[in-house]
Amino acid sequence: MKHRVVVLGAGYAGAYVAGTLARRLSPADTEITVVNAEPDFVQRLRLHQLAAGQEIEAPKLADVFAGTGIRLRLARVTAVDPERRVVAVADAAGGGEIEYDTLVHALGSHGADHGVPGVAEHAFDVAGRPSALRLRERLDSLSRRDGGRSVLVVGDGLTGIETATEIAESRPGLSVTLVARGELGAPLSAGARGHLHRACERMGITVWEHTTVEAVEAARVLCADGTALASDATVWAGGFAVSPIAAAGGLEVTENGRIVVDRMMRSVSHPNVYAVGDSAYAIGDNGRPLPMSCASAGYTGRQAVDAIVGPLTGRKIANTRLEYVGNHISLGRRDGILQMVDDEGQAKPKYVGGRKAARIKAGILRMSLWATSHPTFGLPKRKHRLADAQDASAEKAVAWSRPQPH
Ligand SMILES: Cc1cc2nc3c(=O)[nH]c(=O)nc-3n(C[C@H](O)[C@H](O)[C@H](O)COP(=O)(O)OP(=O)(O)OC[C@H]3O[C@@H](n4cnc5c(N)ncnc54)[C@H](O)[C@@H]3O)c2cc1C
Repeated sequence: MKHRVVVLGAGYAGAYVAGTLARRLSPADTEITVVNAEPDFVQRLRLHQLAAGQEIEAPKLADVFAGTGIRLRLARVTAVDPERRVVAVADAAGGGEIEYDTLVHALGSHGADHGVPGVAEHAFDVAGRPSALRLRERLDSLSRRDGGRSVLVVGDGLTGIETATEIAESRPGLSVTLVARGELGAPLSAGARGHLHRACERMGITVWEHTTVEAVEAARVLCADGTALASDATVWAGGFAVSPIAAAGGLEVTENGRIVVDRMMRSVSHPNVYAVGDSAYAIGDNGRPLPMSCASAGYTGRQAVDAIVGPLTGRKIANTRLEYVGNHISLGRRDGILQMVDDEGQAKPKYVGGRKAARIKAGILRMSLWATSHPTFGLPKRKHRLADAQDASAEKAVAWSRPQPH
């Protein structure tokens, strides 16, 4: 019987892992299934651009995985049962269960409201495509108005900074405010911080520093010091949270639900479950937790692939790099900041800013899309043929993972 690998989620981490496994494992011995809720690949790194009104590419996953032998199941994962080694899924046809021998959990993250009242009801976010599109509609309607055109972005992490600057640049008719809990850009070097402040000034962004938002209402936010800031569209960029599915299934997780993994990205409680990307709580080579980021998706994915391939092929498992080297922050389309960090995760004194940083960031975005849309680049022709044959036989297997009527 073939070894069944099931990958949950086809974002940066899941698509990479599935594609690389398909490249390295023989389809004669292994069956790889990817379960994803959306039919296409969502470039989360560019959702602030989508919200601001730009178009971003979204390759169909069916095309991405065509000819790889990977089975794609478009369905929502609703539960994981690591004791029975099954995953429950729901789709238009009713869903069912998928059995696995090895599971890769790559369900990513979504916006976190941190329990602040009114966020869920009144705020927008750019953490997922549907919410980014809702924000875009709102910005469109504000742009058409005569008055009431204020956009308030809460959160000065990378997502908040990228969102505020992107909206300010793309929609100069709107008045954009950025609310920072501490000093804006505090984790950056002094030079990069100055660059960020100058960019905000140039784009007409009002910055409120040392301000904690305690509640969001329909047309304003309330701050801890009693200030009320008017807002026609509040964008919540207060961080990311993960799905409760892993915790509910009994996997060992951190307080905020990320799966605790060892150096091999293997769940410490269930060794045939791997976690990669935002859903994994992995310790980097510097002894600190890897941040939720596209780069971490790559590092954790690469290590998981090696750890899965090793026992199946008899190859030695390598310790691949688990690093956090820096941040690439876009400030609209023509400016950016490239800030490298040291082993302690602290900003190095030097940074790259301006058009050069914007060009580097654009290159990273192109590269991340290319890498995920060409999962089996380099796959030998012989294996492609095998994979195609497997695709054809998979199509014949009707309702292969749905419960059969009795
Ligand atoms: C606006 C924005 C800008 C960002 N900019 C940067 C940046 O510049 N640099 C950087 O390193 N990081 C950035 N990030 C963070 C980065 O996008 C994430 O860290 C990265 O996407 C994590 O990859 P992942 O594969 O773990 O998760 P995701 O990319 O979120 O993929 C998860 C996949 O799982 C699917 N899924 C989720 N739940 C279910 C379910 N129940 N059933 C089935 N499928 C499901 C989703 O549809 C998705 O395809 C940014 C994020 C945002 C929102």
